[in-house]
Amino acid sequence: MMKIIDELKGAKTVAVSGHIRPDGDCIGSVMGLYLYLKKEMPEAQIDAYLEKPAEIFGCIDHIEDVKSEFNTDRVYDVFVALDTTDDRLGEAQAIYRRAHKKINVDHHVSNKGCGDVNIVEPERSSTAELLYELMDPEKVDVQIAKALYIGIIHDTGVLRYSNTAPRTLQITSELVKFGFDFSEIIEETFYERTYLQTQIMGRAILESVRFMDNRCIVSMVTRRMMEFYRVTPKDLDGIVNHLQSVKDVDCSIFMYETGTLEYKVSMRSNGKVDVSAVAMKFGGGGHVRAAGCTMNGTYHDNINNLSIEIAEQLKAAGKNT
Ligand code: AMP
Ligand code: MN
Ligand code: MN
Repeated sequence: MMKIIDELKGAKTVAVSGHIRPDGDCIGSVMGLYLYLKKEMPEAQIDAYLEKPAEIFGCIDHIEDVKSEFNTDRVYDVFVALDTTDDRLGEAQAIYRRAHKKINVDHHVSNKGCGDVNIVEPERSSTAELLYELMDPEKVDVQIAKALYIGIIHDTGVLRYSNTAPRTLQITSELVKFGFDFSEIIEETFYERTYLQTQIMGRAILESVRFMDNRCIVSMVTRRMMEFYRVTPKDLDGIVNHLQSVKDVDCSIFMYETGTLEYKVSMRSNGKVDVSAVAMKFGGGGHVRAAGCTMNGTYHDNINNLSIEIAEQLKAAGKNT
């Protein structure tokens, strides 16, 4: 397998970035690569760009270096886009466009590759796992290992989802050998929730509705609810996974209001529905079992539009079994 450093030869300035509303894999990957390149290319200037990471990621070394102000006039020799396509880079997209060389490392099935160099492997659990393969294991240190570990556990639900492959576990084992407190990381970055986060999750679960013979479940959070509980979109992570845990549910939908008649939609499935295909119909994407998109319209219109696609898939699957 090629190594990322081979694609960066001679570069004096390198930018590393990931998708908007960055999750654990996105942040772990960006920071893992950032720390790795700072060590491997001491002469070069390496910059990491991301929307401000949630406080729980404060345990990652040098997270304070992340630039959340985007100087769109900057021209980098190389720009590495991680865990995303260029259209989800947000404000960093303008910087990406100007870069002399674009490298795209990702694991989303919906990503057709948006760089001059594309390393897109949908069978990978996470971008962090793929990045580790692109690094020289001898050059990985405890801080890089910790960042990559966070990426892997967040995208695999702590090595629980079906995207966890034997190689994922091997890599995870190599990472934990560095001796960081993995148990504390899992607890503090994955499971721990503030009281208000727990309350809004409880409310979303309480108000959820099942349909299509209980095979689908949906819930939503309005802007007013977010104001009432004093939470931001970052605090809503994990709600959709709880909906998906309900017995007999094949597909779950969670949405929150982002503007007037605008919703961010998250979907999960047990594999019977390809939610990435559903999300792609509405301009989004993701993986077979976890995907997202942004939809315009009323909450009920959005449910109707999504259900048509989901019902078609469930009907087609029913015919084949
Ligand atoms: P979410 O439910 O938003 O956490 O997203 C689930 C998965 O789908 C993650 O891997 C996201 O990166 C991906 N995803 C979410 N929204 C989009 C989108 N608009 N386009 C492509 N991938 C997305
Ligand atoms: Mn991600
Ligand atoms: Mn990912």
